[in-house]
Amino acid sequence: MSVLENMPIRLRLTVMTVALLTVCCIGLTLILNFSASRMATRIDAMPLLPALQDSVNGGIAQSPSVTTLPIATSAATQKAKIDFKIESIMYMLFIIVGGGLSTYYISGRALQPLHKLNGQVKNINAHNLAETLTVPPTKDEIAELTVTFNNMTGKLDDSFKMQQRFSASAAHELRTPLAVLQTKVDVFKKKKTHTNEEYDALISVIEKQTQRLRGLVSNLLDMTNMDDNDEQSSIYVKDIFEDIISELAHIANNHQVTLSLDCDDSVILGNTDLLYRAFCNLAENGIKYNIDGGTVEMIVNKSNDEQVAIHIKDTGIGIDDEDKKIIFEPFYRVDKSRSRQMGGTGLGLSTVASIIKKHNGTITVTDNAKNGTDFTVILPLGSSPK
Ligand code: ADP
Repeated sequence: MSVLENMPIRLRLTVMTVALLTVCCIGLTLILNFSASRMATRIDAMPLLPALQDSVNGGIAQSPSVTTLPIATSAATQKAKIDFKIESIMYMLFIIVGGGLSTYYISGRALQPLHKLNGQVKNINAHNLAETLTVPPTKDEIAELTVTFNNMTGKLDDSFKMQQRFSASAAHELRTPLAVLQTKVDVFKKKKTHTNEEYDALISVIEKQTQRLRGLVSNLLDMTNMDDNDEQSSIYVKDIFEDIISELAHIANNHQVTLSLDCDDSVILGNTDLLYRAFCNLAENGIKYNIDGGTVEMIVNKSNDEQVAIHIKDTGIGIDDEDKKIIFEPFYRVDKSRSRQMGGTGLGLSTVASIIKKHNGTITVTDNAKNGTDFTVILPLGSSPK
C-alpha cells in the first residue's frame, strides 16, 4: 500500500487499473477455457446422429444406429483446445496491456488541469497573495478547488496586511514615547547645572511616557493573552454594568457626563473578566469622546428568545461613516491627539471586538439618534445561574 501511496496519481491509477484488469481477465480466461474444454469433451463423447450417418452413406436409408466420432476428430478437438487456450491468453495479455496504456493516457489528460493548477500555485508567495488564480471554465472539482484556494489566499492576504499594519503601528506607538524620553534627556544633559523646576519637569515627562508605555504593553499583553482565560459562567448582565457604573462614576463626574442604566434580567454565558473589560471599555469611550454635560446610556434587553442586545449610546463627537468601517482595527484612532490626551492606545475597540467574537456575539456601531454613537452588542442568552 505504501508503495502505491508514494506513486504519482497517474501511475497509481494505471497500476490499479492493470491489477484489476489482470484479475478480471485471468478469471474470465479460466472460466472460458474451462467451459470450452467441457464443451469439447461433451462434443467428443457425442454419438453421430442418424441424419449424419445418412449423409455419410450417400443418402441410402439404413436402420438408425449410433456411431462414435473417429480418433482423428478427437485429435483435432485437442488441437482446437490448445489453440483456444493460447489465443485466449494472448487476447488477455493484449487487453491488460491495452487497458493499462489507455488508463495511463486518459488519466494523464484528466490530471492535466491539476498540473496546471499546481504550476500556478507554485508561483504564489507572500508578496502576491492578492493575485487570484484563473478558475477553469468547467464545473468540476478542479474549478471548485481553485475557487477555494483563491478564497483562502484572499483571507491570508487580509490577515498578512493587518499583521503588517499592526506591527508598524505597534512599533510606531512604542517608539514615540521612547523618542520623547530620549530628546528630553539629551536636552537635559546639555546643561551643566539644573534648577529644581527642570528636574521636576524631566521627572514628570519620564513618568508620563513610562505610564504610556506601560499602558501600551499591558494592552498588547491583554490582546495576546485573551485565550488563556477560558473560565466560563452564567452572568447577569446587570451585575456587570452596575460594577462598571460604580468604577466609572468618578471619571464621568470629571467629564460632567451622566451615566444611566436600563437593564432587564438577561443572563449570558461567558468569562466575567473579559466581558467586564469589553463593556467597561465601550462605556469609558462613551465618556472620553463625549461633550461636557453629555450622557452615556446603557440599555440591555432580550431581542428574542435566544439573544440579548446591549446598547451603549453616547451623545459625544460621533464617528464618521468611513471611520466606522475600520474602527475595530488595532491602533486605529480617529483623532490621535485627543485619544493620546485621554490616555488611549487605540487598542481598546479591537480588544472589545475580539472578546465579543470569542463569546459568539457581534458588535456594530451606528449613529446615536441624539448625536454621538451607538455601539450594539448582540450575545447569545445563557441560562440563569443556580
Ligand atoms: P483609544 O484607546 O484611542 O480610545 P479605542 O480602540 O478604544 O482606542 O478607540 C479607537 C478610536 O475610536 C478612538 O481613538 C476614537 O477616535 C474612536 N472612538 C471610540 N469610541 C468612540 C466613541 N464612543 N465616540 C467617538 N469616537 C470613538
